[in-house]
Order: sequence, then structure tokens, then C-alpha cells
Amino acid sequence: MSDPVKKQAALYIVATPIGNLGDMTGRAVEIMKMVDLIAAEDTRHSGRLLQHFGVATRMTSYHDFSDETRVDDLIGKLSGGLSIALISDAGTPLISDPGYRLVVRARQAGIPVIPIPGACALTTALSAAGLPSDRFVFEGFPSAKRVARLKQFEGLLKEVRTLIFYESPHRILDCVQDLHAVFGSDREVVLCRELTKTFESIHGDTLGNLLPWLQQDDNRQRGEFVVLVKGAEENPVQELDGDAERVLDILLEELSTKQAAAMAARITGVKKNLLYQRALSRME
Ligand code: SAM
Repeated sequence: MSDPVKKQAALYIVATPIGNLGDMTGRAVEIMKMVDLIAAEDTRHSGRLLQHFGVATRMTSYHDFSDETRVDDLIGKLSGGLSIALISDAGTPLISDPGYRLVVRARQAGIPVIPIPGACALTTALSAAGLPSDRFVFEGFPSAKRVARLKQFEGLLKEVRTLIFYESPHRILDCVQDLHAVFGSDREVVLCRELTKTFESIHGDTLGNLLPWLQQDDNRQRGEFVVLVKGAEENPVQELDGDAERVLDILLEELSTKQAAAMAARITGVKKNLLYQRALSRME
């Protein structure tokens, strides 16, 4: 059951499709028809969308480079009783898209900010990637500059939650190359390309295999991307020195894992728990 849309002076944050027009929600169309004004990132781009859905509402432009007087103007209109829908070129506004300053100012002014949910590339990708989805970190676009990008990735090396990035076609190869350099060949990655569109592809592999796969065919580098990297192991089996390894191996030939770990700890001074974990990993 959906409540009928009631007009009120409010800022509506309206999600639009990320490719497939069939993903536009009925509520989004109703709201866009009802409001006094639509603030759009690119009025020409959004004009085509509005035409498709028969929305005749007046549009004005709003983007991250809009100066403060533009924000003042929109807040003034809202305070004066008008209702405004904010849309971006695709997906959910504010998710790597304009709108943050406007939402902050509207909330500070006591103007209701009403979300109208819909498509979003990050949640769409996560829902189908087959990587842990209970906890994740959205990093937006990695830095465009290599040194900064490598530093950003290095800071995430031990992050155990699934990592999610947005990437453009002209940087996807550099991005995957740098992911490979920092996270190594074995880390799992899923590349979601052109979601909801004709050439949608969701390809998962290790970073070591993904890089040549991407280089093999230029078509695989075209379109819009969400890159998901599996988080680090929660409790990585730490390295033991060679002596401790050897002692543990010999004891494991004669004793249970628990006994061997306890005895090896007494002989080598290495923590029992670490030796026990290592002994268990030998059994896998
Ligand atoms: N606000 C949007 C959202 O809700 O996902 C994101 C806007 S951001 C400027 C554009 C980036 O989102 C693209 O460069 C790409 O990384 C990702 N993206 C958007 N649409 C996509 C799609 N259909 N398939 C894969 N990635 C997409």
C-alpha cells in the first residue's frame, strides 16, 4: 500500500535510473510532476528523462560548482513555501553526486528533506557481486592521481570490510593495476560494468587474473564501473620463523594439535595461540 503523494514545501531527494528507464519508480515520477521546481545537475540531460515520463515541471540547474548564492536562492524558495525535487544525472543524488550543501542548508533551516529512494550503482553492484555484504566501505572515485591513489589503497590494505569504488572507463585499467600492486595477486575482486544496461557484465576473479582479462579486450574497459574488492582476512595466519615452524611440524607428527602447539610454545617462546592457529591451518 502506498500513501498518496501530498504536496508540501519540502526538498525531495529523488533517485533516477542508472541506465534502465524501467527502474524509475512511480513515486519518483509523481513527485517530479507535483513539485514547483526540479533542481537538476544537468538540465539538458535530465530534460530527456522528464520528457520520457511526461513531466512538465520547470527545471533549474544545481551542481557542486554552484556558488553559495545559488544555494541561498533555492533555500529562499523553499522557505517561501515552494517544493523542490533534487535529481542528478543518474542514480541517487549525493552519492558521488551533487546535493550535500543543499541538504545541509535545508535541514539547518528546518525545511523537511524527503528521500525518494531508487537506483544506486553501489547497492546494485553489492547485491549481485557475491562478496560479503553485511559490512562494506564505499570509497567513491579513487583519486585520479597515481601517487595519491596508491596511498589511498595502502590505507585500506588491512580493511576487513568489502571495499567499493566507482571508476570511469578511462581510468579503469590504471585503477586495477594499482589495486593489484597494493593488494596482491590473490585478493578477490568483482568488476560490475554497465549495470542495468544492454552490455551489463559482472566479472569476479583474483586481481592477478583480472588484470590480463581486462587488458585482453578493450571492450571490457568500456562503460561505467563499480569495483568491489574483498576485505582482508579478519585474523590472518601470522608468519612464524623457520625454527618455530620446524619444531611445530616435528611435534605434530607425534602429538595432537593442542599438545603440539603447547609444547612448541614452551620450546620456542612463540605464543601458543599463534602456534595452535598454524597447526590448525596445516589440517585444512
Ligand atoms: N549517484 C550515482 C549512484 O547513485 O550510483 C553515481 C553517480 S557517479 C557521478 C557515476 C559513477 O557511478 C560512474 O562513473 C560509475 O562508477 C557508477 N555508475 C553509475 N551508473 C552505473 C552503471 N549503470 N553501471 C556501473 N556503474 C555505474
